[in-house]
Amino acid sequence: MGAGLEELRKQFGIVADLEAAGGVLGWDQQTYMPPGGAQGRAMQLATLGRVAHEQLVSDDMGAALEAAESEVEGLDPDSDEVRTVRKARREFDKARRVPSEWVAEFRRVTALAHQVWEKARAEADFSQFQEPLEEIVQLRRDYADFFAPFDHVYDPLLDDFEPGMKMAEVKAVFDELRPAQISLVQDIVDRGRPVDDSVVHQQFDEQKQWDFGIEVAKALGYDLESGRQDKAVHPFTSGFGTGDVRITTRFDTGFLNTALFGTMHEAGHAMYEQGVNPEFDRAPLGVTTSLAVHESQSRMWENLVGRSRAFWVGFYERLQEVFPGQLGQVDLKTFYRAVNKVMPSLIRVEADEATYNLHIMLRFELEIAMMEGTLDVGDLPEAWNSKFEEFLGLVPPDDAVGVLQDIHWSGGMIGYFPTYALGNLVAAQLWGKIYEDIPDLESGIEKGEFGALLGWLRENVHRHGSKFEPVELLTRITGSGLTAKPYLRYLREKFGDIYGL
Ligand code: ZN
Repeated sequence: MGAGLEELRKQFGIVADLEAAGGVLGWDQQTYMPPGGAQGRAMQLATLGRVAHEQLVSDDMGAALEAAESEVEGLDPDSDEVRTVRKARREFDKARRVPSEWVAEFRRVTALAHQVWEKARAEADFSQFQEPLEEIVQLRRDYADFFAPFDHVYDPLLDDFEPGMKMAEVKAVFDELRPAQISLVQDIVDRGRPVDDSVVHQQFDEQKQWDFGIEVAKALGYDLESGRQDKAVHPFTSGFGTGDVRITTRFDTGFLNTALFGTMHEAGHAMYEQGVNPEFDRAPLGVTTSLAVHESQSRMWENLVGRSRAFWVGFYERLQEVFPGQLGQVDLKTFYRAVNKVMPSLIRVEADEATYNLHIMLRFELEIAMMEGTLDVGDLPEAWNSKFEEFLGLVPPDDAVGVLQDIHWSGGMIGYFPTYALGNLVAAQLWGKIYEDIPDLESGIEKGEFGALLGWLRENVHRHGSKFEPVELLTRITGSGLTAKPYLRYLREKFGDIYGL
């Protein structure tokens, strides 16, 4: 490594350390911090955010970047060196447009808003959350303005989560997805053979759910020497370098799916972060490439693996041993159908695969309207409920299971939701290639062996960190960019079989 690149790594390492420290504080806020810590935590996060940002945009960083750029000139464009410098340049140029003051204010406002959201959600009262959300929407508009001119005010926001992606591209994909998913759900309803999922709606002891979830996560390949699980209101994964990637889960003693598939989902996220090349730790490439690719990993382990028949061929007997009273007399087929029941429902994270993306499209449209200024935050609950009825045929009985259910807006993460739906598409695209490369994948999964799959993901996706931008990564692996077709085909096949379409 040349002196310029070495200096760049050193400067960038400071940013990464400060960001990781903020990450630990954020994790703590959502797991163990008492409510009284909110004000102090908001200031701590604001300070760390400001200092990290000042370091990122510093003249020292700029000088190191320029030196590194001339150093790597002429090297292989796919080398780690060239990619490191390119990624650092992208981060630096973006951050230079944003004042450190804005970063501090954004961190402070969102840290406080988180606490308000938790309380508003617990009390099913949107009005408490209205003012913080108005502040956040304004801050996000200001943020977009730093990147003017743009095609759409949503684009600069989306770019932070899905580098290079534009609102118009997402909209085009959703315009293809939505009618196909709605017609699938309609066909299932018309078929008139509803699945009985009462077996997953029994009483399940929380500790036993916890233990079984950990057993599964370990079997999939989540390394608990470099991770841990805790409880949180809204499940998430938080990584502070490849050696410490934590998951959180929530439990519902009356519904088995919540923690079971939630744990597999978060373990999928965590395995991605644990699998990044450790040489990239504290460096520009040491983060994952995008949220859609992140979500492709979590959704793959949760659904393509965790909700497959093959998986339960391997694991169902073990689950019956854990819950003999509830499942001892329930056969595999009944259980498999129960965990794949298609039914429009209120909560996104518990939605079945056929309706899940509709929850995303609804949020996407509302976010765009809020950013464009055509929807006032005060009118959001009403807009949510009427769109919910239009998309899913249900009206939420209160805000807790409606507009307040997700954590994202309280954290300022407007522009994040579409990546969930895109992640589903990416997962299906990767799955096709995985089957080509590992023809006996299914029989391995039936035996509870996931090493071949995890190894493939490590080799093709995880280890690269953010070396390749998402579409480039996808194209290198599958030969094509983002497309909805494999996902729609997967849904049709799977649910056609379950519902006899
Ligand atoms: Zn996720």
